[in-house]
Amino acid sequence: MKRTPTRVAIPTLVRIKPGALARSGIYLNRFDHRSVVVFQSVGLPKSIIEALRAALSDSKIDVVSLNEVNDNSFDRAVDTFRKLNGQPTAVIGVGGGKALDVAKYVAFLSKLPYFAIPTSLSNDGFCSPQSSLTIEGKRRSLAAMMPFGVIVDTRVCAQSPPNLSLSGVGDLASKFTAIHDWKLAFHNTGEAVDDFAALLSDGSVHAFMARPTLDEAGLRLLATSLMMNGIAMEVCGSSRPASGSEHLISHALDLLSARPRLHGLQVGVAAYWMSLLHNENSSSISELFAETGFWDIIAEDRFYMSEWLEAVNLAPSIKPGYFTVLSLPDSRAKAEDILRNDSLMQECFVA
Ligand SMILES: [Zn+2]
Repeated sequence: MKRTPTRVAIPTLVRIKPGALARSGIYLNRFDHRSVVVFQSVGLPKSIIEALRAALSDSKIDVVSLNEVNDNSFDRAVDTFRKLNGQPTAVIGVGGGKALDVAKYVAFLSKLPYFAIPTSLSNDGFCSPQSSLTIEGKRRSLAAMMPFGVIVDTRVCAQSPPNLSLSGVGDLASKFTAIHDWKLAFHNTGEAVDDFAALLSDGSVHAFMARPTLDEAGLRLLATSLMMNGIAMEVCGSSRPASGSEHLISHALDLLSARPRLHGLQVGVAAYWMSLLHNENSSSISELFAETGFWDIIAEDRFYMSEWLEAVNLAPSIKPGYFTVLSLPDSRAKAEDILRNDSLMQECFVA
């Protein structure tokens, strides 16, 4: 098969450090931005909003429109794009998942540079080439573009609720199983593995594992690692380096669970589960979860085993043709056996 050389978009500006939020106006000024549109999460602490506002006004940057986002529907994002006026030269997304996804998509539609300012690190979506939006109530991953700038204030992220950072740890751990699923797909269906993307994804997990803490220094590594995952997806043009069987299980839970939890909490437990099925990296994942307190936060609010058994059966139909360990014969029976008998898994569930 003839393959064309890889061309990728990566962020031009990356600042991951304490106090970065207060300097965001200076960063935007360096690229001559004088008027911006801002998308912010509903319920964002006042101190964060005020710090951004002051940073922009100190640098004489006009906010031509400020949008609070609590709805990440595709229709809403397109409608906001249509109503954009005042000729902004850049789009800023500040806060968590939905606001960043909508901001990224509006920036993509309007062909404006996008600056992502995540205030928590609950997943790898803040620096990926896709936007997670809903269409008729269903979650869809739509092609968008990489942020031009990524500004992560580690002091702000360190003040976010710990379950958000731990969700990011869970999402990061899933790269182990995602890569094994990808390699399994190659051996079973011939689907090409992009070597560089796989290495980048693998290396990103190990970077955080070298110092797995949730203080400012640890969060700097977590943010960098999650960002590298987004770039790995951009490198190969698919979600393969960041998403495998464990993500299919989490997507199935989102559909069937009476109370779906944070993406990375579901994905992390599913990654440990699938690592036992792969018989690879289980001890690395369980140690990472023990060191960061991931297991403790799961034990405080356990999942329902019946929902997870249903989810593992539904998982392969979530993305037809996406080969993972769950596509192998007997894998689901083996998975059920592991779920019922592994001692760490038992701590995650009520019957
Ligand atoms: Zn994820």
